Amino acid sequence: MKQKIVIANWKMNPMTPKEAKRIFIGTVKGVAHVKGVRVTICPPTIFLSELSKENKGTKVRLGVQDLYSEDAGAYTGQTAPAMALAYKAKIAILGHSERRALGESHGMVGNKVRHAIHKGFTAVLCVGERERNDEGAHFTYVREELEAVFAGLKRVELANLVIAYEPVWAIGKSAAEAMQTRDLYEMSLYIRKILIERFGRANADLVPILYGGSVKGDNAAAFVRDGGVDGLLVGSASLDPKQFSNIVTTVSNT
Ligand code: PEP
Repeated sequence: MKQKIVIANWKMNPMTPKEAKRIFIGTVKGVAHVKGVRVTICPPTIFLSELSKENKGTKVRLGVQDLYSEDAGAYTGQTAPAMALAYKAKIAILGHSERRALGESHGMVGNKVRHAIHKGFTAVLCVGERERNDEGAHFTYVREELEAVFAGLKRVELANLVIAYEPVWAIGKSAAEAMQTRDLYEMSLYIRKILIERFGRANADLVPILYGGSVKGDNAAAFVRDGGVDGLLVGSASLDPKQFSNIVTTVSNT
């Protein structure tokens, strides 16, 4: 059985290193006793230096919320893989819908995913439709996002790929407005089917599928138990160490 995964996406929060340290230390303590879950925290890159000092000997991994598809050079504002690796951050969220909304194309996301994997990262590829309709256009949309990246990937690279299904309409809402687990189950099967079509079952089964979108302490168990996913990507609830630790504990017990 695959190990379960929970990833915290702090987005552009908090505002100070002091507060980042407080949340990080609280989370490390809160998940210290939890077994069978790989926990990663993706803070803003500016806090990596500070947080990597606090991370010695803990089982929490550090990650980044984006990573550029070049090694070095004239790319204002970007983060190079080597910069993240200097702080032992080896997991990269890529293609998040909030970055795609700023203009990241399928092609750019594909380049980032390939480059990150070549540099030794686990790439967490985010996909998800903006809206749903009765015609099922969301399935076509997610297929297009996946195939744009899969086209350039080799089978061997799948060992370092995670897919995070995050329907955009379900991000940043209350637990009651999050996705229904039966809809998640349908989509997670569909994503697995696309993986199998392209890479074969044995390779496809290597790729964990996560759900993200308004995961809270009170709906986390249902997503993992009934949604057919291997873990969760958590946004706003990950800024509250108590709630995030509760989510990780719930995933461990499910
Ligand atoms: C996200 O945007 O990655 C996310 C999961 O956000 P939230 O949990 O706040 O919906």
